[in-house]
Amino acid sequence: MPKMPVIFVGHGSPMNAIEDNIYSRGWREMTKLIPKPKAIVSISAHWYTKGTKIMNEKNPKTIYDMYGFPKELYEIVYNSLGNPDLAQKSKNLITKESEFDNTWGIDHGTWSVLVHMYPDRDIPVFQISIDATASPGVHYEIGKELKSLRDEGVLIFGTGNIVHNLRLVNWNTGDTGFDWAYEFDNYIKENIQNGNHENIINYQSLGDKAKLAVPIADHFYPMLYILGASDKADKVQVFNDKCILGSLSMTSYLIG
Ligand code: ZN
Repeated sequence: MPKMPVIFVGHGSPMNAIEDNIYSRGWREMTKLIPKPKAIVSISAHWYTKGTKIMNEKNPKTIYDMYGFPKELYEIVYNSLGNPDLAQKSKNLITKESEFDNTWGIDHGTWSVLVHMYPDRDIPVFQISIDATASPGVHYEIGKELKSLRDEGVLIFGTGNIVHNLRLVNWNTGDTGFDWAYEFDNYIKENIQNGNHENIINYQSLGDKAKLAVPIADHFYPMLYILGASDKADKVQVFNDKCILGSLSMTSYLIG
């Protein structure tokens, strides 16, 4: 069984699910570079909960946790199987309190990307939620605890956006970002490339720039799971290295 890499994707707009653009092509590019996973555990920005929840359904439902998009998006069904055994294993690996919860499903953070990466829906997928009340270091630790799943062919998959400030989105800026968006995105990138994870866990020490880039941590925290599950020796490859609409970054990472 080849050791799986870990992946973080900047998912951006749900519309990417039905668009052939540089971002969806970047995601497909990543798939070509890695072995086919036995299963995928997704940590999505959109399952942001009180406490850590784990989905252990055999047939998880697709959920449409976004509003006001074209009908076509609500017709996408990502009907892969779940993986109750791996969900149980993950629960055993996570030392912090966690619980099974099947009130959620495969959300758009996950399916808008997987429809491009694994359109055949033949790989079991389950999600682990992000505990909104836990500190950055705790998320990193959970990632570390899940790391051994990589040896079993499991793809640990984080989906969010490093820079994500919807309130400041500027529809007129197109595929560029504000200065602070580039600065924050580059700061994170350099620290990932240099293996300085402490600086990323302590991203708030950047002050105002961090507050602008990460006003709510839901889209940032998935990255911490991915870094926790990475190894010093892993190679870092950067995809979709772009800021868009001023206050979003699409930067994605294949590590391993
Ligand atoms: Zn999102």
